Amino acid sequence: MASTPPSDPSPGTWGACQFCGVAVPPGSPTCPICGAANPVPAAALPSASRRVRRRIRLTGAFRTIIVVTVVVGLAYALISAVIAGPPVVADPLTTAASYTIGPGNFTVIAGNITGGDYVVGNWSSVNPPGMDIGVAVYNQSQYLWFSAGTGSPGVQWNNTPAASGRIVFSAAYTDLYYFVITNVLPPSAHINVTVYVTTTYESNVGDDGFA
Ligand SMILES: [Zn+2]
Repeated sequence: MASTPPSDPSPGTWGACQFCGVAVPPGSPTCPICGAANPVPAAALPSASRRVRRRIRLTGAFRTIIVVTVVVGLAYALISAVIAGPPVVADPLTTAASYTIGPGNFTVIAGNITGGDYVVGNWSSVNPPGMDIGVAVYNQSQYLWFSAGTGSPGVQWNNTPAASGRIVFSAAYTDLYYFVITNVLPPSAHINVTVYVTTTYESNVGDDGFA
């Protein structure tokens, strides 16, 4: 003699709130979300007024739209952040420009370098082509000496004047550094030189041996 299994609670006993449309547990006199009275039992839904059924359908669809919109918005934000990568901050030592420099004069590209980071670049005299250009890198105190014209301050890095070449400067310590580009002709030469210079600040990622 098989015993009859206890019957499952009828799924039809859950109802719907006629104001906000959420499912209301069986026997609950009010909506647990908005508190509206007289939830419509599921069994009575087909016979509920057209206005109530329409409201329940619309609020359900509205919630679905909100959820889909939020999910799509978050996915978009995440994907665009991944594609764009970390924000790129313009550095004053990342440059590409032409400078016209009078004989015996110079121009300066300056910026902070964190110890262990470096600046790479190159220069070429473009007008007249082939004119020698001096490139020197000073730290802050050396640059003060240099710009005051008082004695020989020493340099962090320099080249033998040449028409073109590479700049490779690694900062041993954090400071404000000055890249001085000089037309090495004597003032009596009366020849301006246009030089094209590029510099790129490179972070030495992963090297924490300097500070
Ligand atoms: Zn409700």
